Order: sequence, then structure tokens, then C-alpha cells
Amino acid sequence: MHYKYTDYHIHTNWSADIIEDGPDFEDYIKIAEKERINICFLEHFELYYVESDKRNPFYGEKIADYLEEVDKLKETYDFILSGLEVEYYQEKENDLLDFMDDYGKELDFIAGTIHEWIFGYPVTSRDLLLKFIEKVPIKQIVDDYFDISKKLIQSKIFKNICHIDTIFRYINSNDIKPPNDLDTSDDRVLELGKLCMKNKINIEYNLSGFKFPINRSFPSKEVVFKLRSEGANFFVGSDSHDIEYFKEQLPEVKDAYDFINSIVIK
Ligand SMILES: [Zn+2]
Ligand SMILES: [Zn+2]
Repeated sequence: MHYKYTDYHIHTNWSADIIEDGPDFEDYIKIAEKERINICFLEHFELYYVESDKRNPFYGEKIADYLEEVDKLKETYDFILSGLEVEYYQEKENDLLDFMDDYGKELDFIAGTIHEWIFGYPVTSRDLLLKFIEKVPIKQIVDDYFDISKKLIQSKIFKNICHIDTIFRYINSNDIKPPNDLDTSDDRVLELGKLCMKNKINIEYNLSGFKFPINRSFPSKEVVFKLRSEGANFFVGSDSHDIEYFKEQLPEVKDAYDFINSIVIK
């Protein structure tokens, strides 16, 4: 890549959760060039929605258009990467493997991710999480999240994984309070991280948590430190969904890399 630092997690209007008239590739490219940072477009790609929701940007084989657009821009700009944040669904492992066979080499960077495992109840939407909690106890939701995350890692479908403890985005002592019998310790996040290491999966140091009451990265800086000390590989993502946020986050992204690189591996 062209520059020293790379923000691996940028969303444009190719992602379903972007506001109308949200940023496009060029909006980010202009700033990235000025601030001298490589960027990877990591759009949401969720098979259930891609297959069934006509409003989804990737509905109806539009992935070909996405690739064509980014590849065209790559001819001019040597600091951009094509990527996808691909939702893991345990019951769709075979479809995901087929997808990786078809597109794994077409894209520069693909990361596995978990936002939901019951269709329509993403734990990264506060409103929908509250509805989910009406049906399933919080403790079970969190335990299920960690179980399914293990399945994602052990499936070996992905070489990269996003925000490994994003389940705590809203479930934490500053927001939706965890019940006493719920294990929110670093230990289980470290366990996931170690499983990633064992399976040679790169872990995201995702900076988006600072915009929520939890006010920390995913995973926390302490967990990043511990895992890196043991040799885990990290990539940094701002998880930007708009330009202003992206601009603000760029110094943080660079600092995050400097932090990772300052950690001595034992
Ligand atoms: Zn995500
Ligand atoms: Zn994202």
C-alpha cells in the first residue's frame, strides 16, 4: 500500500445502514489522500438481506457493480482497497464458503463479523436489542454471542474478524446494565482472541465504541495489549459511517497502530 497507515473499516452508501445521500467512495478518497492514509471499503454484506431485501445495495448480484466501481478507482488511487464486512450465519456456512470461493480473490480484504444470529435482531441496534431482550434473557444473548463467535472463528471461513466483543456496545454498566450472573470479564474476550491466534485470524482493533456510552474500543486497549504481547495480529478500523467522523478518527487510527507497534511481543 501507498501510505504507512491503513484504516480497514470504512462504510459508504454501499452499506445498508448508511443515511440517505451518505458518503461515496470519492468523499473518503479526497480526505484519505490529504491525510495520507490507505483506506479499505468494508461494506456490510449480509447474505439473508442480499438475497431477499430489494433495498439492500447488494441485492441481485450487484456485487459485480461494486467491484467494477472500486476496481476502476484503484486504477487512479493506489491507496484504496476493496473489502467486505461479511456477516457470519452458522446455518449458512456452506453458502459462505461458496461465496469465498467466488469472491475471495476478487476483493482485497474480507472480514467476518457478527451483528445478529436471529434474523431481524441485530445486537448492534439499541432498539432491536431491547426487543430481543424481551424475548431472550440478556445473559443468554451474551453467552450465545460468544458461542457463535467461536463457531465463526473455528469455521476458518475468514482470515480477519471485526470487533470481537461488540456485544458489549449497549450491554455495559454505562448503558443497558448487565445482570449480576453475567460474565462481562476480559477473560472471555481474551479467550476469543486466543482462539483467533490459534486459527491465524487477524483481529480488528475497532475504534467505534467511543461514540457510545461504553466509551472504549472493541476490544478494549487492555485486551489489545495482552493479545498483542502474545503475538496476535491486529488491523485497525474506524468503522466510519460518515465523513465528519472519519476525519475525526484519522489521528486515532494512526495512534492505534503506533500503540500496537509499541507493544513488545513476549
Ligand atoms: Zn460491524
Ligand atoms: Zn462496520
